[in-house]
Amino acid sequence: MTDNSSTLTKRWSIAIIALLLSLGLGIAAFVYHSTTQMREALAEEILEQQHDVASLIHEYGHVMVSLERTRLSPTPENKKAIGAALTSAQDQLGRMRSNYSFARLDGAAEAYAYIKPVLEDIADWTNNGIAGYSNDNPFVLETAANRMGERYSVIRSISNETDAVATELISEQTDFLNNFRDWLLLLLAGFALLSLSIASLLIRQRNLQAQLAIDQELNATRLIEAETRGRRQAEDALLGSEQFLRATLNSLPSDIAILDQQGIISAANEPWKKFVSSNDTQYSNGGIGHHYEPVFRSTAMNEVERKGIDAATKHVSDVLNLNRDSMFFEYPCHRKDKRQWSVVSMSTFNTGDGRHAVLVHEDVSERKRLEERDRRLRAELAHVSRLTTAGELATGLAHELNQPLTAITHNCDAVMSSVKSDSQFDNELLETVHDISEQAQRAGGIIRSMRALVRKESTDMVPTDINKLVRETVRLTGPEARERGVSVLLRLDETLPHPTIDPVQIQQVLVNLERNSVEAMWQANSPVKELTIETSRHGSDHLEVCITDTGPGIEPEFARRLFTAFQTTKANGMGLGLSISRSIVEEHGGRLWIDPASEGVTIFRFTIPFIQE
Ligand code: ADP
Repeated sequence: MTDNSSTLTKRWSIAIIALLLSLGLGIAAFVYHSTTQMREALAEEILEQQHDVASLIHEYGHVMVSLERTRLSPTPENKKAIGAALTSAQDQLGRMRSNYSFARLDGAAEAYAYIKPVLEDIADWTNNGIAGYSNDNPFVLETAANRMGERYSVIRSISNETDAVATELISEQTDFLNNFRDWLLLLLAGFALLSLSIASLLIRQRNLQAQLAIDQELNATRLIEAETRGRRQAEDALLGSEQFLRATLNSLPSDIAILDQQGIISAANEPWKKFVSSNDTQYSNGGIGHHYEPVFRSTAMNEVERKGIDAATKHVSDVLNLNRDSMFFEYPCHRKDKRQWSVVSMSTFNTGDGRHAVLVHEDVSERKRLEERDRRLRAELAHVSRLTTAGELATGLAHELNQPLTAITHNCDAVMSSVKSDSQFDNELLETVHDISEQAQRAGGIIRSMRALVRKESTDMVPTDINKLVRETVRLTGPEARERGVSVLLRLDETLPHPTIDPVQIQQVLVNLERNSVEAMWQANSPVKELTIETSRHGSDHLEVCITDTGPGIEPEFARRLFTAFQTTKANGMGLGLSISRSIVEEHGGRLWIDPASEGVTIFRFTIPFIQE
């Protein structure tokens, strides 16, 4: 394209030079031609005049000669010759012009003016004579000859002068023409030079323009290349930093999303995407392009969580609306059907696009669980310390009570001996006193084992008939059950081996479970109030005791924390019975649990190994 334009430029320039040169040559030729013609016409005129003057002198001389000849020999032929010479001279005068265009060359006119009257006089004299003398008189002839002779020298000098002026004029003309030609050539050369200069300037300018265009094109190409390179580098760098950012974000365990000032999620890491999409699959890409609020709300599954989310979104919008720089908030939410405690924190940063915020969401359930466990442990510790105090009091009480109980037992023994010594003793009275003695001994036993339990003293592990133990506890709880309209049913496997246990502690477990059932049925005023205690084998090496009642049952949610200390629904309850019972059973190598809720019945079971390790 550049080559084409340069060729075009050259052609145009050559055409312009040719045009200018032809124009110059044409003008020069025209000027030269007309000047030469004019000068040639003038030269012709000069030569013509010179010739006229010379011819006139010649004719004049001829008249003079014919006069002289006639004076010397006045023959008729000679006289006639004078007339012929005069006629010839007159003719010559008639041919001459009196006025010439060349002012400086007036010789012919002068000669004409001088000679004309002389020739007229001579013609007059030679025809008519002078003052009475006849024309052939020698005096007339002499006078005429003298007259002509006088004028001849003048005419001669006019002729000479005319020659000189003509020569001068001719030389002037020649010089002028030569100069004019030189000047014209010079002019032409200058003109040609000028044309060439203009042409070369044009070519140069054109070439410069072409070069400039090429340079510009080259520069533009380089610029584009540089820009492209720069853009690619910038893109690479951006891509690199984006990938770095994405890799960094993805490597962090927390759920992270980037929000713009309007609260639209512009980026998110993989953990965030998993968290958000685990609750609502429509946000499988982490809700990028959506406002954070609905995305956030999709993680709340119940009223408590919704309230938490309300508070969290308010904090987030406070940061976005510049009301605060950062925030930190803890609330419960859901991650794929599982409740979790979350901490949402937020901080802002500014870029060319405006303000952005980094939203970090962390699962702190484990920390919460540990905190909760700590809290519970602290509570249990407090309880243990209360229990210790109670234990110390119980020790004192047991000591104090032991004596009256022993006294009661002794007194009962004394009463029984005295009753027996009577031949007609009252059997009923004897049984009652025996009963009192037994109860007093049991009370003493309970107090002792309570003391041992509280003091964590080593307990008396003895092979025990579990069925017998069950019957004894039923006897203990029987009065209360009867009072509350509860009928007690026993289904005991009499073939069970005797496990080695602390009978007082296991009895405590039994009493606790039985009393809970009786109280529950009574409190709920159940239409059927039945308490069933069943013993059986559990596997090859355990026995199982099952306590079933027809009470109101236990809410599944409450059942999950039933064995935790201080869980009670009773106004005067301590919420310790089940947790202590579980500890006792587990210390014996067994397990205590509640069956999953079933319509109309509540079932507690515990197992005890036959052989203690
Ligand atoms: P407390 O008897 O002092 O409340 P427990 O640990 O023995 O402490 O019992 C905890 C709670 O378990 C009771 O308050 C009661 O609400 C519930 N509970 C226990 N056994 C039954 C049962 N058989 N039926 C219904 N609720 C029961």
